[in-house]
Amino acid sequence: MPRKVISIDRTKTPANQPDPVIVNRWHPDTPLFTTVKPGDDFRVECFDWTGGQIKNDDSANDIRDCNLIPCHHLSGAVGIDGAEPGDILVVDILDIGPFQGQEWGYTGIFPTTNGGGFLTDVFPEPRKTIWDFHGIYATSRHVPNVRFAGITHPGIIGCIPSRELLMKWNARERALIDTNPTRVPALALPPNPDGVILGSLKGTQLQQAAAEGARTIPPREHGGNCDIKNLSRGSRVYLPVYVKGGGLVTGDFHFSQGDGEITFCGAIEMGGWIDLHVDLIKDGCNKYGITQAMFQPGPVEPRYSEFLVFEGISLNDDGSQSYIDVTLAYRRACLNAINYLQKFGYSGEQVYTILSTAPVEGRVSGVVDIPNACVSLYIPTAIFDFDIKPNAAGPTKKVSGGDLARAS
Ligand code: ZN
Repeated sequence: MPRKVISIDRTKTPANQPDPVIVNRWHPDTPLFTTVKPGDDFRVECFDWTGGQIKNDDSANDIRDCNLIPCHHLSGAVGIDGAEPGDILVVDILDIGPFQGQEWGYTGIFPTTNGGGFLTDVFPEPRKTIWDFHGIYATSRHVPNVRFAGITHPGIIGCIPSRELLMKWNARERALIDTNPTRVPALALPPNPDGVILGSLKGTQLQQAAAEGARTIPPREHGGNCDIKNLSRGSRVYLPVYVKGGGLVTGDFHFSQGDGEITFCGAIEMGGWIDLHVDLIKDGCNKYGITQAMFQPGPVEPRYSEFLVFEGISLNDDGSQSYIDVTLAYRRACLNAINYLQKFGYSGEQVYTILSTAPVEGRVSGVVDIPNACVSLYIPTAIFDFDIKPNAAGPTKKVSGGDLARAS
């Protein structure tokens, strides 16, 4: 096992950790808790993104009541000897997994008034799914007849931003919010000082940073909450460095996720550990002209060879035409798949959750054939213990018993 440079105490809340290793905003003043050298292997432990708010039970009350303001609870910052602004930090994801004795995760459909999701207008009520891990496989008492190999990855990885970059983020997101400040769900989330933790930062310094620290919800130029399922074992991530020492922060681990992470808390969320290796490419951002994170997928991923693929085009719900709208086309593809799989006895929420968690591929197939964008959603057929392909006999209902946990 590589040297553990960040440990968390899971018996205590994120705000009461013995070591100041929790970070829940992006801010240049985030202290470096520890420093590693280029060439080092090391281990980092992380809470699940909510910091332990979600329980392994059959009620979605905790999803309904989840306090999103202090989320995500991440671990860091890890300094890298010699890292300077303009360098590329090369991060190899050597391995990742759940804590021993805590081999379970959850998926939430968050209510429209508390987070929402990609199809929140169709599925506005809180629901929860608990998944049990069996080595590389996941099953759920809430979603019968499905078992799949997880594509495990960190939802969030990135270096802390410079002050200049932070100010750019805050200005452009504020401008968007101002176009419709009362929208539910919100267009973007402005800084919110409640419950901000930035490592060992205290007092006035913390207050000032908390008032302007960027929320961790969106992906940005530095990577951040990119939620790319293919950042799994063996991947190499190239991260721009913005401050001296780099300040690597990671967390929001996903046992598995489908492209789009569509239910919002849409992966199989878990706490756990990640083993990393770091190197530096000095002045790499200039040398390669990169202004945003990049990566190489790893060699270790679930291998499914047969898919049923649902197409989606840029039509509105009322059947009217939109122009080359990829988001709308993805909505259509997801709704087409949900409608189809419900014919086998699943609830709409169960299918929504399967699309969100299983290794489902979402692809932009065409963006030039006016007026329709074409998006395709690849569902691996082998994750079901029955045949989902169409045939002359029609769908034979196979699924019975069990549905997602509801709120009381
Ligand atoms: Zn997540």
